[in-house]
Amino acid sequence: METGVQAVANKAEMQGIAEGWRRAGHSVGLVPTMGSLHEGHLSLVRRARAQCERVAVSVFVNPLQFGPAEDFDAYPRDEERDLMLLRKEGVDVAYLPAVGEMYPPGATTRVRVHSLDEKLEGAHRPGHFEGVATIVTKLFNAARPNRAYFGQKDAQQVALIARMTRDLDMDVEVVVLPTVRDPDGVALSSRNAYLTEDERRAARSLVGALRVANEAFGEGERDATRLRRRMVDVLAAEPLVRPDYVEVVDPATFDSPGTLAVLAARVGRTRLIDNHPLGQPL
Ligand code: AMP
Repeated sequence: METGVQAVANKAEMQGIAEGWRRAGHSVGLVPTMGSLHEGHLSLVRRARAQCERVAVSVFVNPLQFGPAEDFDAYPRDEERDLMLLRKEGVDVAYLPAVGEMYPPGATTRVRVHSLDEKLEGAHRPGHFEGVATIVTKLFNAARPNRAYFGQKDAQQVALIARMTRDLDMDVEVVVLPTVRDPDGVALSSRNAYLTEDERRAARSLVGALRVANEAFGEGERDATRLRRRMVDVLAAEPLVRPDYVEVVDPATFDSPGTLAVLAARVGRTRLIDNHPLGQPL
């Protein structure tokens, strides 16, 4: 049954609503997103809906986590469709602050998770994780969640948020859900909208590489260098794909070796990431 979803743009209003929920003894779930919602996002929303009495979903394309040469302006936005989907899912509040509401002039405070934020994804996107840690802290302070929901799709973000909540004694349970994929295996991503038909086909090589590593792991291969080599070979066979990194790392520290296969690559002009915890079905 559809109910109304309350759209909130103001942080004081969001805090007031969350405060009311808390005072009434309701548990609060928060799903942070950048909108352009797909089934990956909705899997988080549904879990939050199942586990929490009140659910807030934030939709905010966070300029702080985009580099100057990245796709902040082009990032797909469709607020009306997002609100329609959130209404269907029975979400209580959609929190849609404007950039000026989140970062008024003079707001210079940043949250950093040292070391982890400089590895792999952080090395390729300087400042990205500082932007993520800062906005997630602000969203927590606005929506006051008991639980916050994140996708395994962004594995390093998950490690970073888990570390941050622990290090800063944030009273929020971090819930992580598996990557939702299209039937051909490609991980759902708002950025898939950028791909041409040929690029979309080429993008299958990312999950293809993860599958090859997962099969080798299943057959007993534990040598990170050889697992990595197998993935690199799969990507190298696809001319439209240019890898940024391919590694097998510890899922908490992102140091090598480990059992989490992670990769990032450009497919045409679009940068995609994917990962898989080796040993789990794919
Ligand atoms: P984004 O809008 O890309 O910032 O993503 C918002 C949340 O949805 C993050 O926690 C992502 O990890 C998660 N997410 C994005 N894509 C997927 C996917 N294919 N499967 C599961 N979760 C996802």
